[in-house]
Amino acid sequence: GGSGNYPAFYGLVGSGMASAAVIGDIFTSPSGEQAYRVAKAVDGGAGILWSFGNYSGDVMNFGMAEMRLQGEGIDSRTVLVTDDVLSAPKAEADRRRGIAGGFYVFKAAGASAARGDALNEVERLARKANAHTRTAGIALGGCTIPGQGEPLFTVEHGKMEVGLGIHGEPGIRVQEQLPAAEIAELLVGSLLNDAPTDLGGEVAVLVNGLGGIKYEELFVLNSSIGPLLQRAGLRVHETQIGEFVTSLDMAGCSLTLHWLDDELRPLHDATAQSPAYTRIGPDVQAVSQVVGAATGAVSSIGKAVQQFADSVRSSSAGEAAQGVPGEAGKVARAAIDQALTAVRKIETELGRLDAVAGDGDHGAGMVRGMGAAESAVHEFGGTARESFTRAGTAFQDVAGGASGALVGAFLIGLGSALPLIDNEVNAEAYARGVANGLATIQRLGGAQPGDKTMVDTLTPFVNALEKAAGQNSRLAEAWRQALPAAQQGMESTKEMVSKRGRSSRLGDRTVGHLDPGATSMYEILMAFGKAFDEGK
Ligand code: ADP
Ligand code: MG
Repeated sequence: GGSGNYPAFYGLVGSGMASAAVIGDIFTSPSGEQAYRVAKAVDGGAGILWSFGNYSGDVMNFGMAEMRLQGEGIDSRTVLVTDDVLSAPKAEADRRRGIAGGFYVFKAAGASAARGDALNEVERLARKANAHTRTAGIALGGCTIPGQGEPLFTVEHGKMEVGLGIHGEPGIRVQEQLPAAEIAELLVGSLLNDAPTDLGGEVAVLVNGLGGIKYEELFVLNSSIGPLLQRAGLRVHETQIGEFVTSLDMAGCSLTLHWLDDELRPLHDATAQSPAYTRIGPDVQAVSQVVGAATGAVSSIGKAVQQFADSVRSSSAGEAAQGVPGEAGKVARAAIDQALTAVRKIETELGRLDAVAGDGDHGAGMVRGMGAAESAVHEFGGTARESFTRAGTAFQDVAGGASGALVGAFLIGLGSALPLIDNEVNAEAYARGVANGLATIQRLGGAQPGDKTMVDTLTPFVNALEKAAGQNSRLAEAWRQALPAAQQGMESTKEMVSKRGRSSRLGDRTVGHLDPGATSMYEILMAFGKAFDEGK
C-alpha cells in the first residue's frame, strides 16, 4: 500500500511475515506496474498472495497486477483487510476499510506460508484471520504531509473524531472528547457489538498508536481495556501495545481484537523476524530453513526485471512498426502538454477538494502523472494512438492512487481506439476513443453516473461528442461543442453523495463540494480542446 503508515507495510517484511512489500507515495497506492514487478521478483513458484487494506486505489492497482500474473500462469490471490467496524455497517462488512488489524492478517498468512502450507491454505487462513479481526479507533488531531503547511484535517479543541482512517481522512463522526477510561469503553463496546458470538472466548489484543500519541497514553488506555474484556467473558491471550499501523503524525489510537482458535493461535505465536516486529515462537527451527530458501529467491530479482524490460521493448516496437505518424500525433502530444499546464494550475484546488473526505493527494497525483505522461511523449515521433497509450502507461506507472490507475487507463483506452494511421484521425475517431476511455474506467472501477466520480464528467461529454462528431468532422469544433456537457456533468457532482473510492466512506461530508476527479477530468478535456484548436 501507500507510505505514511510505517511500520505497515515495509517494516513487516521478513521471515514468518511478508515476502515483500510494494509501496507507493505517502497515502497513495503503488502502481499496478510496481506491484507486478515486485511479485515477479519474489515469485518462488508456489504463487502469490496479496494482502492490503480495502481502498479502491490499492484494489485497482493490485488487481491489474494480479490479472497480469494470472495471464502468465502465475497463481495469484488477494485477501483484503476489512477490519474497521466503524467504516461501514455490519451488513456491508465487505465494504469496510483495512486499518491496524491488517497486522494479524499479514502475520497469519506469513506464518502459514513459512511453515510450507500451499497457497490455497495460506489464502484460507488469511481470510479467516481477517474474519476474526475487528478494529475501532479515534483521533484527537490530524496529520500533516511532510512539506505541507497545514494538517489534512483539524479537530476542534475538546472534540475527538471517531472512526479514523489511516490516510489523513477525518473520522466518521465528531463528538466530545472523553477521558481514557471512557474511550476504552467506547472502543471495546464498538468491537463486541459487532463481533459474531461464535468466534470463541480468546482474543489477542492490539492497542495501536497512530503516530502522534505517546506510548504512555496507550498504556493508560490499555489499563481500562483489560478489565472490560474480562468482564465481557473474554480471555486475553496476549496484548501488544505500540505502533503497528500509523498515519504520519496523527494523534490517535485504535483497538484491535483478534479472536483466536486452535488454527489461528499457532500462527499468532509463530516466530517472526522483520525490522519492526520480532518474536520467538515454538517453531524457531522451521523458520531458519525458510530464511535460507528466501536468500535464493532474491537472486532472481535481476532476471525478472530484465525479462520485463525486454517484454516492454518488444511490445512497443511491434506497435511502432504498424503506425503511420502524421499531424495528429503532434496534436495529441500538444494535448498532453496542455493538460499538464492545466493540472499544474489547479493542483492546490484539487488537493483541497480531495481533503474534504479523502486524503488530499489528488492534485499532486495528477501533476505527477501528467508530468510523466508529458515526458514520455515529449520527444516521441509516433502516432496519436501511440502517444496516448504511451502517455497513459507512464501516467499509471507514477501517479498511484485510484486516479493514477483510472486516468492512466482513460488515456490508454482513448489511444487504443484511435486509428493506426494518423491521417484517419478525426472527430468521430476521437468520439470512439473517448467512449473507449470511459468504458475502460468503468470496467476497472465499476462506477456508474451519479456515483460522484470522473465518470460524471465523461458520460455526458461522450454523448455530446458523439452527436457533435456526427454533424461536424472537424475535431476542434466538435470538441468545443461537447465541452459544456462535460462542465455540466462536473458541476452536477457538487450535490452528489460520493459512492466510490476513498471518499465514499464519508459520503455525506462530500455534499456541497465538487468531486476532485470530475474536476480534473474537465480541466483535461478543456486543455485537450485548446490543443485541438491550435492544431487545426
Ligand atoms: P485516491 O482516492 O486513491 O487518493 P485520488 O485522490 O487521486 O485517488 O482520486 C480521487 C478521485 O478518483 C475521485 O474524486 C473520483 O473522481 C475518482 N475515483 C475514485 N474511485 C473511482 C471509481 N471507482 N471509478 C471512477 N472514478 C473513481
Ligand atoms: Mg486522494
